[in-house]
Amino acid sequence: MAPVNDPRFGFCRDCLAAQTSEGRRCHVCGSPRLLRHPELYRLSIAHVDCDAFYASVEKRDNPELRNKPVIIGGGKRGVVSTACYVARIHGVKSAMPMFKALEACPHAVVIKPDMEKYARVGREIRQMMRDLTPLVEPLSIDEAFLDLSGTERLHHDPPARVMAQFSNRVEREMGLSVSVGISYCKFLAKIASDFEKPRGFSIIGAEEAVTFLADKPVTLIWGVGKAFAATLERDGIRTIGQLQTMEQGPLMAAYGTMGQRLYRLSRGLDTRRVEPESESKSVSAETTFNEDIASLDDLVPILRSLSEKVSHRLKTADIAGRTVVLKLKSRDFKLRTRNRQLADPTQLADRIFRTGFSLLEKEIDGTRFRLLGIGVSDLSDDGRADPLDLVDVQATKRAVAETAIDKLRGKFGNHAVETGYTFGKIQSRTKNVPDEIE
Ligand SMILES: [Mg+2]
Repeated sequence: MAPVNDPRFGFCRDCLAAQTSEGRRCHVCGSPRLLRHPELYRLSIAHVDCDAFYASVEKRDNPELRNKPVIIGGGKRGVVSTACYVARIHGVKSAMPMFKALEACPHAVVIKPDMEKYARVGREIRQMMRDLTPLVEPLSIDEAFLDLSGTERLHHDPPARVMAQFSNRVEREMGLSVSVGISYCKFLAKIASDFEKPRGFSIIGAEEAVTFLADKPVTLIWGVGKAFAATLERDGIRTIGQLQTMEQGPLMAAYGTMGQRLYRLSRGLDTRRVEPESESKSVSAETTFNEDIASLDDLVPILRSLSEKVSHRLKTADIAGRTVVLKLKSRDFKLRTRNRQLADPTQLADRIFRTGFSLLEKEIDGTRFRLLGIGVSDLSDDGRADPLDLVDVQATKRAVAETAIDKLRGKFGNHAVETGYTFGKIQSRTKNVPDEIE
């Protein structure tokens, strides 16, 4: 067990040494970055937000930019996506029109966003979060909640120390800084992470929640945007403290379900769980064509073959999906997704294909498509999948036939048995694009 002593003395964010007095600097490394809080070792909900994420990634990748004001933005929308802290000193803010930003900071370096790169970096950081707990709920590319309850035995450290180590690790391994908020609920953890950016680490405990919130503006509450804040203002409500004096009944009478939220959050009552992204939300297969295709006849064999792939994966993983999703991309890259929920989850190629077909039929309007995909979502284990259809005897027969085909394929390989839909019709039309399980 790491040395966890008096939470009033806390520990050093840099060298992690537990402190033994109320001194202002770490007695081991001299750093002033000490974490102290009466509930320091009891809180386990964290919110992590990368600091000026896009701009920081660009600065990391081009050291010449380091001390310069950098604005990520431009492009079609003509607004600031992210401004680095140097640019912020000059008054540049996110979502500001580009021309205004350049008025405020004419010597800024403007860089077009490279979303692919940021997404890649974001994924790496998220993976580091998952090393700490499976309960990671991403809010955006550079932001997530973590629930570290019950991880103390795994890490031999309480959540606050684990998160301090995490933020050091991101700096060391990714060359980027994050801000961390820790509390007993999501609402306050998120507020805390915003407190002393960049490289922040703030703690809001249960004891202080109500007092802490009292003088804050209502806009701090989730879901209170400009319009709703204006409504509240008309009713004379500006601070969260005012909400704390109001009862739930009248608040709900005035603002509906939002009234309940105002009542609860103003008092620091937030029982929402950290909801991790499920590992696999859907199973799908898609393919891009060599040449764009407009006709149903040409699309059908491809749909059939993809349905079989999806079905094969479902059967292998012993799962089934209840919603069939069809995906089409037109020549001008417009995406169409259509879905249909089935009465029961399925893992049968035949049902996936027939459902996909009925969705596809309606999309045939002369548009030339460059991509077709089919998949299922709403996944469950296969226990309830595909009950025998007592009404549609043909469907039952097809299910029996499919099981027989599966057995043959199991013995002789996937291409041993082709159905009439696909036989000899596909190879030349499709590129070899890897399929995805999302
Ligand atoms: Mg951020």
